[in-house]
Amino acid sequence: MNESNINNVNEENPENKITPSNFVREIIDEDLKTNKFGGKVHTRFPPEPNGYLHIGHAKSICLNFGIAASYNGVCNLRFDDTNPSKEDVEYVDSIQEDIRWLGFDWEDRKFYASNYFDQLFEYAVQLIKKGKAYVCDLNAQQMKEYRGTLTEPGKDSPYRNRSVEENLDLFIKMRDGEFEDGSRVLRAKIDMASPNMNMRDPAIYRILRATHHRTGDKWRIYPMYDFAHGISDSIEGITHSICTLEFEAHRPLYDWFLDELEIYHPQQIEFARLNLNYTVMSKRKLLELVEQKYVSGWNDPRMPTISGLRRRGYTPESIRNFAERIGVAKRDNTINVALLEHSLREDLNKRAPRVMAVLRPLKVIFDNYPENQVEELEAINNPEDLSAGTRNIPFSKVIYIEHDDFREDPPKKFFRLSPGNEVRLRYAYIIKCESVVKDEKTGEITELHCTYDPETKSGTAQSGRKVKGTIHWVSAQHAVNAEVRLYDRLFSVEDPSSGDYKSFLNQSSLETLNDCKVEPGLLSAKVDERFQFERQGYFCLDSEDSKPGALVFNRAVQLKDAWAKIEKK
Ligand code: ATP
Ligand code: MG
Repeated sequence: MNESNINNVNEENPENKITPSNFVREIIDEDLKTNKFGGKVHTRFPPEPNGYLHIGHAKSICLNFGIAASYNGVCNLRFDDTNPSKEDVEYVDSIQEDIRWLGFDWEDRKFYASNYFDQLFEYAVQLIKKGKAYVCDLNAQQMKEYRGTLTEPGKDSPYRNRSVEENLDLFIKMRDGEFEDGSRVLRAKIDMASPNMNMRDPAIYRILRATHHRTGDKWRIYPMYDFAHGISDSIEGITHSICTLEFEAHRPLYDWFLDELEIYHPQQIEFARLNLNYTVMSKRKLLELVEQKYVSGWNDPRMPTISGLRRRGYTPESIRNFAERIGVAKRDNTINVALLEHSLREDLNKRAPRVMAVLRPLKVIFDNYPENQVEELEAINNPEDLSAGTRNIPFSKVIYIEHDDFREDPPKKFFRLSPGNEVRLRYAYIIKCESVVKDEKTGEITELHCTYDPETKSGTAQSGRKVKGTIHWVSAQHAVNAEVRLYDRLFSVEDPSSGDYKSFLNQSSLETLNDCKVEPGLLSAKVDERFQFERQGYFCLDSEDSKPGALVFNRAVQLKDAWAKIEKK
């Protein structure tokens, strides 16, 4: 974790942030000074449309779009769609939706590597003509044997010295569908003894009969990612190709292609990918979780995907702040997921309206309150932002409180409700518990009989009497029923990828409460609104399952220290 960046955040005045410098910016500053790219900054975000974007991609998006914006440059969105067997338009669509939601705009610069398939084919032909690429008939197993290991050099393929004419002829036949899938590949002719395995005559084209989501059945051969990626950056005139560290060892190969083809060279810069504890980030694993139904979908609120975080209640601002806070480093590290939660809490604390909701209701009847009376009590919408104003909440003879806020046999320092004891109802009265009603068979507490003290109405001159605890409540006849989903981490260990990650799934990562009672004002809540349920955390409507008349709320994140806050007031 980049400690200095975290300390740089001015907690008193969070808006007054200075974008911290980092090594990527230093490289760009230097390039601008030396006029390396004619003063231009042009980046790109290059997802492969084989899954939904996750919080790691968000780091890369914020970096690429953010850097372009701060240097008055531009950033492309480019789909690196070279593997039709794993790709899908569903992913293409979701990726665009997620980037837009994060607040970034590629304007008219949406590209696809598949737009360049004709050009890439021509480049491959050029390499063949230069004697720098050959068609190889070794099968996958043999290829592996010939490749050598990290400590032993590889061996030249017996097909390495085919003539240019034969290679051209075979490559055209590959294109024209004359050979079986996987029976031949086109390989770059580099160096089978190179200490860098990527340089040992890597495949650049393979035979694959798969329908591509954009080019349909036009192609039976597809370029390999490593061939297409660097060349696509070159075609687009990208100045700084920012990518994650694992591509460092691929850079010499990308440079080799550009040099041999004598085309424009972007500058590749590698940074450390984001890892979060208690989280898996590999798309392959996330896809498995979806396909094997460990979660309800890519946008399950427990997933680290952008769509999952959105559905859970995260805001774009909180994710962008998180990305800025973690900074960019050159060495791999793991960030504490609590920092992500902190970013959300910090954002919503400033602007989420407060409401009252009872998640596990216990009925309370005021024996001394008039039967049909209803009072409208004034409640503050956001103590952190008084411009948010106030609202009226109804109070009546029967209310619900949180089951947990009552103990028949309270431990020491239990400042909530217990027999014979008093507590304040938020924005209402001080009440006292007179008797407890239980289910005769189960012994379960079913309701409380209380009295309220009419002299203690909040906000009035007489309200001054102090009691130790304040609890939230909802008027029973006015309450709206809701389902509430509480989430915990999807994995129960810090590093789920250290073993069989599925064996580390947290069995209680989702708790569904079906009988919650919320303030009547929440009937008009909208999906993109976030609320603080007092003392319970930040919540939003579930975008998939909530319906008018059948509200479903997700808890985005808990409050850090609910008790300390309530008692201060
Ligand atoms: P795969 O596992 O399929 O290779 P990927 O996570 O690398 O997936 P891409 O679609 O290739 O997915 O990623 C698009 C861009 O996002 C790349 O530039 C990649 O470097 C960056 N990226 C991916 N994962 C992370 C991460 N955890 N942190 C930062 N950037 C990431
Ligand atoms: Mg990738």
